[in-house]
Amino acid sequence: MKLKGILPFARILLEQALKPGDTAVDATAGNGHDSCYLAKLVGTTGHVYSFDVQEQAIESTRERLRSQELLDRVSLHQTGHEHAVDHIQPAHVSSLKAAIFNLGYLPGGDKQITTQAQTTIKAITRLFEVMPSEAVIVLVIYHGHPEGAVEKDDVLHFVEQLPQDKAHVLRYGFINQKNAPPFIVAIEKR
Ligand code: SAM
Repeated sequence: MKLKGILPFARILLEQALKPGDTAVDATAGNGHDSCYLAKLVGTTGHVYSFDVQEQAIESTRERLRSQELLDRVSLHQTGHEHAVDHIQPAHVSSLKAAIFNLGYLPGGDKQITTQAQTTIKAITRLFEVMPSEAVIVLVIYHGHPEGAVEKDDVLHFVEQLPQDKAHVLRYGFINQKNAPPFIVAIEKR
């Protein structure tokens, strides 16, 4: 397939937004795949802040980072991403160029513990406020489960209302696939 799939497209957006020395946020650490990817993009001089509400996810992310010798440039926080901004050092705010939210539940984990519209929107709002111009927030929206369907509607409603002079908002996804395929929403601060 020549068209980029959802996860490769999310990574292209992150690659475009980040350079060595930058700061990034993984808002849903999960099993740590995105944290590792971000840590490689920001390099030894950059920093990644990773958040997850579950101890299992934080430990899984820590182990993945350790095995790839990336742990030294990542701060792990077992707390909701709605509190992310409270944990970012003031000196890192101006270099905060990207955040990724891989919404839903932990693959292989408890399906009852899933991201929720209200806290997702609060986290996006707070990060967007402090991020510099041209920073990007990437949302990967999984809506094939009941909570995800509600979250999708609320998050879409929210991002559609972002003023055009403040943000570019893009939606990317396959529209002829069965079973509620995931899609991307990307927000670039103007
Ligand atoms: N990005 C991950 C990876 O690379 O493996 C996958 C993330 S998984 C789809 C979603 C994660 O969001 C789960 O691990 C879940 O615990 C976490 N989560 C749920 N609510 C959250 C919240 N309010 N703040 C941060 N993480 C949350």
